[in-house]
Amino acid sequence: MCRHLGYLGPAAPVGELLTRGTHSLREQGWAPRDMRGGGTINADGFGVAWWVREPGDTLRASRYRNPAPIWTDPAVDEVLPQLWSTAVVAAVRSATVGMPVERSACAPFTHGRWAFSHNGVVRDWQRVLTEVAAEFGVPSLLDAESRTDSAALWVIVRGLLETPGTAVGQAADSFRAHDPSVALARLARAVLARVPEARLNLLLSDGETLWATTVYHSLAVLVGEEAAVVASEPYDDDPRWRAVPEGRVVTVRPGSLVIASLAGDDRGGDYLEAESERARS
Ligand code: GLN
Repeated sequence: MCRHLGYLGPAAPVGELLTRGTHSLREQGWAPRDMRGGGTINADGFGVAWWVREPGDTLRASRYRNPAPIWTDPAVDEVLPQLWSTAVVAAVRSATVGMPVERSACAPFTHGRWAFSHNGVVRDWQRVLTEVAAEFGVPSLLDAESRTDSAALWVIVRGLLETPGTAVGQAADSFRAHDPSVALARLARAVLARVPEARLNLLLSDGETLWATTVYHSLAVLVGEEAAVVASEPYDDDPRWRAVPEGRVVTVRPGSLVIASLAGDDRGGDYLEAESERARS
């Protein structure tokens, strides 16, 4: 299965985030340590998103993708380190059997200020995700960039984030109505209700916050006062890395980690005070 990574903090070279540490995302391409039965290496391309501030002070996700193995692309060492950003989302891909190997299938998927990655698999995704999209009143999956479960999941997440009156928009509490952790939790529950063995490690960012879920895949977080990182596998041996337990949705910013259960109520899960507090200390 794929490996993904999200960074928020002081401006850093985008390429450096891909090669940072003794077990960098690039190394996780050919030598991942914790794939949990989901493939062996991540050789089916990679992608990276970073954020630019546009006139009017709005953030927009920019992106570079290549369907070749990350370790074969000289842009990682020669071009991407020249771009700097305070936020990065990156992924290396191991295509699920039966899904195309092509540039448009490589995460991150982006739209406006959003970037999204999926580490996992949804069996029978065409039928299952069509049903889920209909349940949430999300427009057609024909908008998916590639014929993969991940691209279709992104169409649904986008719909939940942006369409007033969808399942998220109807949440009773307006403060949380558009909370992306609610969108991810509801999506995970709707998919798992139909395919209990689905693997759904989702990663989302708007350039200022990271949201991520754990469903049958590994995830670790490193939260400091200045910077925060979410990664399928820690890229170094910093003692501050902590594993995120199964069945969680995390909301991460520098200096802040909130962990909630995916199995909670319609507002995105029960806030797990004990874990969140511990994570801050
Ligand atoms: N199923 C997705 C794809 O084929 C994600 C694969 C993965 O996590 N390895 O792109």
